[in-house]
Amino acid sequence: MAKQELILLALDASPILDLMERALHAASFDVVIVKDRSGLDKSVQESVPALIVVGENFAGQDGITLSKEMLERFPTLPIILYAKQDAPGNAKAVLKAGISGYLYPPLKMEDIVNEVERTVIRARRLGDWLRREVKRTTASLAEKAKISEAERIKLEAIISNIQDGVVVLDDHQDILLANRMMREIFGIDLNEPLLGRSLKDVIPNADMHALMLRTREGALKYHEINFDDGRVYNAQYTPIPKIGGAVTMQDISYLKELDRLKNDFIHTVSHDLRSPLTSVFGYMELIERTGPLNESQIEFMRRLQGSVQHMTNLVNELLDLGRLEAGFDTRRELVQPENVLRYTLDVFDSQIKKKKLTLETNVTGEVRPIRANPIRIRQMLDNLVGNAIKYTPEGGRVRVSMSMQENQIVIRVEDTGPGIPPDEQSRVFEKFYRASTRPQGVEGTGLGLAIVKSVADSHQGRVWVESKVGEGSAFVVLLPSHE
Ligand code: ADP
Repeated sequence: MAKQELILLALDASPILDLMERALHAASFDVVIVKDRSGLDKSVQESVPALIVVGENFAGQDGITLSKEMLERFPTLPIILYAKQDAPGNAKAVLKAGISGYLYPPLKMEDIVNEVERTVIRARRLGDWLRREVKRTTASLAEKAKISEAERIKLEAIISNIQDGVVVLDDHQDILLANRMMREIFGIDLNEPLLGRSLKDVIPNADMHALMLRTREGALKYHEINFDDGRVYNAQYTPIPKIGGAVTMQDISYLKELDRLKNDFIHTVSHDLRSPLTSVFGYMELIERTGPLNESQIEFMRRLQGSVQHMTNLVNELLDLGRLEAGFDTRRELVQPENVLRYTLDVFDSQIKKKKLTLETNVTGEVRPIRANPIRIRQMLDNLVGNAIKYTPEGGRVRVSMSMQENQIVIRVEDTGPGIPPDEQSRVFEKFYRASTRPQGVEGTGLGLAIVKSVADSHQGRVWVESKVGEGSAFVVLLPSHE
């Protein structure tokens, strides 16, 4: 038996306590007698005893209850209960409480030592077994970890061969994994170690930095990354639970080039169409001045005018879109959106009256100014309010509201028109798309909302529609206010 093990004696002063102390001392145990409950707690915590002997009544407390409390806190601590006599039910209660040993008179010194040694050995065996089990379980976990290491290598091989750039990051945006393409995109040597380094340090690119900032704000998770040599990539951030996230990068240079060619085309064609249209208009006016026209001629002229007007609108809107999409809209000044709205509503006043619509305007609180091109903001409001009036049947209601939400201006244009089906709600912002619910005979080019979206985009804003068919639509625009 390993000696110098500490035995705590939690018994009230009595001849048996002396006997125990002597017996255990003689058997080379360290023995400490504790006087009360707090002394017991302190000793158990500070000196890690090999065993405690508890009296059936100690310092005014029932020994079995005290043992139970101790075992709740130290489940592997061996406890022997000492009772003045073996009362019926005692042994059962000892067993039930999870107490390791039970002593009662008559007792000789060797009985005490034997019971203590037996209990300590049993506890030690249990401790050894526990340690072995823990080792075995950890070993099997390590085995499993080895498998996942193999899987990690497999995963790395797959990611390496993907044609998109991929970088996996932890929660602090430090690199866990980066594939070959990612290195190629940013010209990072294949041998340069990246693991554990901050993405910001490895890729000091302003666009990438902006994307990572956006991920923290919980805003849009993609960003275009432009390189001086003309390459353009679309970088997308995907959060990965319990790991962090991954940035994937796709080469969209050819799509950008196609977009540029298309915009050039629209721009040129629109210009070339505008001049003949102006001259058609001019000649139509001249015809009217050449002499009185008969009824049919007047009707034909009216139809001609309608068509030429439609074509002019189309060309003007295409030109606007072309300019916006090509990034020519660079004029920025402080604009008070409330004032712009007032102008828009003035212009539509007669149409509202003609259709007997109820107009409600609601400007909540102080709406801050925005840094914007006032012409474009006006165009945006004209399109939204114009549509609400155009698509709402007679006697309906149009409600325009403006408010602040943190540092954003929220513009909401609601109507009681035909509404837009859910699957078409995002499509109405595409060029030339007209929804299936538009009433027959309502003229339009299908370009107004595409312009609205371009204006919102070029002002770092957002636009969307909330709508229910048969009830109405609400177009919502968010624009960042000028701080
Ligand atoms: P359009 O010149 O056809 O009005 P827009 O781009 O402004 O073109 O709108 C695209 C389509 O979205 C419209 O054709 C119409 O179907 C739908 N739309 C736009 N505004 C509304 C609205 N307030 N209520 C119902 N449908 C609308």
